[in-house]
Amino acid sequence: MYLFKRSNDLKKHLDLVRKSGKSIGFVPTMGALHNGHLSLIQAAKKENDIAVCSIFVNPTQFNDPKDFEKYPVTIEEDIKKLNDASTDILFLPSVDEMYPEGLSGGLHYDFGDLETILEGKFRPGHFQGVGKIVHKLLDIVQPAKLFMGQKDLQQCLIVRKLLKIIDSPVELVVCPTEREASGLAMSSRNARLSPAARKKAVAIYQALEHLKQQFGKGLHFLEGAHDAFDDLKTQGFDPEYVDILSLDPDGNLHPLNQPPADNDTIVAAIAAWLDGVRLIDNMIIRGNI
Ligand code: AMP
Repeated sequence: MYLFKRSNDLKKHLDLVRKSGKSIGFVPTMGALHNGHLSLIQAAKKENDIAVCSIFVNPTQFNDPKDFEKYPVTIEEDIKKLNDASTDILFLPSVDEMYPEGLSGGLHYDFGDLETILEGKFRPGHFQGVGKIVHKLLDIVQPAKLFMGQKDLQQCLIVRKLLKIIDSPVELVVCPTEREASGLAMSSRNARLSPAARKKAVAIYQALEHLKQQFGKGLHFLEGAHDAFDDLKTQGFDPEYVDILSLDPDGNLHPLNQPPADNDTIVAAIAAWLDGVRLIDNMIIRGNI
């Protein structure tokens, strides 16, 4: 595996790769890698000639400086995992390398309502930060395909919009959420949970499963979401949202407050704090994203 820290060096290398007719699959990450990330590398390898992974904890997408400081960094282990997964290239830039102009200002993207619901409501500015870094990374890597996880569904939808806004030819591939045997969605943040909290955290997955089943039985979905919120609270979580939403053909999410049309894709999404750790998960209740 090649390791690059400078974008110009990586660009030069990848120019040659593209000139030789090889396709590039790209997996951007913030490190503290787990099997969810590695499943994206696998998909990138399968669908392209080479897989490029980036590890960069992007300061502009953290609205909470404490969260940024506490974000787990396990670079030695990450390099080993990427090597074992036959990753071709790791891009490991510094903050100065990615933001030579400084962290504030820069482009502003019009993501519409998608930016202000769910994650956007509780993490103001988050998706502008995501947009900035993905745009910068795509300019450097210029992949054929970009691989992201359904675990961060709203992020996938934002990036899909970004690709349209910047008129990018890159194809976004959304990969399924990898879970622990218990059902808990794999996440770098799980590393900060105590063993007891990690066990308890499965309740988020169980709530999503329950909502899916309830929906299938035609029970009232809004009450279901309400009950799930209260249930998580009773169990010691501090939930931010438990929402059921429909996804329209333009890639926008709408909170459901009336029965959906027959062919709308329906998703359930949860964000909840447990033991000082913010966890998110989602599930497709019906349809495809
Ligand atoms: P992160 O390092 O958390 O920014 O995640 C990097 C990429 O890995 C994003 O596209 C995430 O959606 C994806 N990812 C994170 N967790 C999982 C998971 N459990 N299953 C699949 N993909 C994931």
